[in-house]
Amino acid sequence: MSQIDSGTLYIVATPIGNLGDISFRAVEVLAQVDRIYAEDTRNSIRLLQHYQITNSLHALHDHNEERKINEIALLLAEGKSLALISDAGTPLISDPGYKLVRTLSRQGANIVAVPGPSALIAALSIAGIATDRFCFEGFLPAKKQSRLQRLETLAKYPQTQVFYESSHRIVACVQAMISTMGGHREVALARELTKVYEQVFRGTLETLSCWLAEDNYHQKGEFVLVLGGYRGDTSLTGGRMDSEQLLSILLAELPVKQAASLAAKISGLSRNEAYKLALMLQQKDH
Ligand code: SAM
Repeated sequence: MSQIDSGTLYIVATPIGNLGDISFRAVEVLAQVDRIYAEDTRNSIRLLQHYQITNSLHALHDHNEERKINEIALLLAEGKSLALISDAGTPLISDPGYKLVRTLSRQGANIVAVPGPSALIAALSIAGIATDRFCFEGFLPAKKQSRLQRLETLAKYPQTQVFYESSHRIVACVQAMISTMGGHREVALARELTKVYEQVFRGTLETLSCWLAEDNYHQKGEFVLVLGGYRGDTSLTGGRMDSEQLLSILLAELPVKQAASLAAKISGLSRNEAYKLALMLQQKDH
């Protein structure tokens, strides 16, 4: 049994889809604290019911966080133990709680992490893209111009970058990346992690764009996009031509296999990626 300390705020990570992905300690803490603050109480009630936790749930979201800070500080001062959870994953990671933790930590409150799932770490762990250093970008700005500006500042960043994206912006996000970074950049897109229709696409921004267009269903759900860092201009064409243009030229003269093999040598794409892209281009033409 976990020991629950009085006058302590526990920041508890919860599943990002599969309800089984919660730690024993998280369940014990949620069952034993005096009250739980949740981003959306209707959503969190399902998780609590699943684990037969009958604790009291109180809302803490972006719109009331500032007002709730005093209430929480008073409860902690009275010796109450409290937990904060978000709808999914780790609180404060593109979720509410930062202002609360910032203020309380400055007041010397006891704040304890109960670690667990986060979509960003889950995606990184399976992307097959460098993990020794990475930068978490969260959600890109919703407005097109600001999104492009943000991506331009990242275009020459040499380390892995991780983005969160929703279904209604994933296509625009990939297009904006292609226009600022070129289509040959390595990428992995993790979709619906830990859920029934979980999928991971690994390739380049160009092949990802084709994969998204191939089937509407590929654009549905929640996404983490893991982007490889800038590697300089590795292509013999000096970056003036992207892999799609190059393949189109080669395909006009050569059979698919040969065109893909040559394109891979010239552009730095893997043979497999070049072959997939060549097939997609061929289908587009017919
Ligand atoms: N706090 C959460 C965490 O630790 O991952 C993130 C919350 S943020 C509001 C929600 C975003 O996280 C989604 O739009 C998506 O980009 C990503 N995400 C959450 N669950 C996911 C899943 N099961 N598969 C893929 N991405 C997910």
